Amino acid sequence: NKQILLKQRPKGKPETSDFEIKDFEISEDKTLKLHTKYISVDPYLRGRMRDEESYIEPFQVGQPLESMVVSEVVSSNSEDFKEGEHVIGMLDWKLEQSHDGKGLRKIDKEMAPLSAYLGVLGLTGLTAHLALDTIGKLKEGETLLVSGAAGAVGSVVGQIGKIKGCRVIGIAGSDEKIDHIQSKFGFDGGINYKTTSNMKEAIAEHCPDGVDVYFDNVGGEILDATLQNINKAARIINCGAISIYNETGTPTGPRPEGILIKKSALMQGFLVRDHQEEFQRAIQELAGWLKSGKLKYDETVVEGFENTPQAFIDLFDGKNTGKMVVKI
Ligand code: NDP
Repeated sequence: NKQILLKQRPKGKPETSDFEIKDFEISEDKTLKLHTKYISVDPYLRGRMRDEESYIEPFQVGQPLESMVVSEVVSSNSEDFKEGEHVIGMLDWKLEQSHDGKGLRKIDKEMAPLSAYLGVLGLTGLTAHLALDTIGKLKEGETLLVSGAAGAVGSVVGQIGKIKGCRVIGIAGSDEKIDHIQSKFGFDGGINYKTTSNMKEAIAEHCPDGVDVYFDNVGGEILDATLQNINKAARIINCGAISIYNETGTPTGPRPEGILIKKSALMQGFLVRDHQEEFQRAIQELAGWLKSGKLKYDETVVEGFENTPQAFIDLFDGKNTGKMVVKI
């Protein structure tokens, strides 16, 4: 059996040498034996690699990493789970593991492909939907701008914007991604931040009526440029800040306070884990949109357990379109 451990805390951008793949003996003392099918790699895991207090405890050096994982039950002494069923939960990066079943949820592979439960019907789809519901409060005809637009969260955000009748502009890191979000997901336009020298002007051009809701997945300079374009009573959703996750110090930049006051804008942080009581309703709604064809999704599937660290690192180079998952 194999597991992936945190070998050392990354300095700056993570490297494969920060991880270690190690053999281990599986203990047989728990009620379930699980076989890993899909592992979710997510930008927020970078934060857990720091030795810092946060909303979730840090990973420990020498211990296995964990994330949302889809597994098959290969043996069970529990009444709640049967052999052959599939479950999802926060699980270790191990090929096989024993588990007591706490916190695991059964998933139905007839309703959606197993990997979709890590993305569009999982935490990233829920993040998009619930953050827009809670903070975005989209109104028909408003302009929604989203960064990380070709990613797992961003691509769902844009499509919900279209479902709600908004004008939707996406920001992403390649011309292919910009074409893709328009042709597949119905975005009204997009900006390639890697080839645009003046983001403030580019946003103004693409959002001639200003930005009513900014769904921020990246933070940093793109956030600063967006704030220069917000409307009165704009809502800014602080969902993620991937552009600064690998920074070693605390970056400072143009201060947003003055603009927020002048525009009476709301800028609010969002953590999907604070909204668990709404998950069931939101999943039903997302699944309904999927079924009716109003919502589509992408996945970048990396094959092979041992490639999990590289798949995680590739998120910071934008090598994924849609949800990045590892297939075992
Ligand atoms: P994505 O699928 O969006 O993957 C990350 C993407 O970020 C890459 O594809 C890349 O695309 C882009 N990116 C990487 N580096 C930079 C950079 N320096 N500047 C701008 N863009 C960059 O990941 P997720 O959809 O899983 O997550 C998106 C964001 O949402 C993350 O910040 C994540 O931490 C956050 N999040 C927050 C949650 C919450 O509860 N608050 C829950 C889930 C996610 P490109 O080619 O466009 O650069």
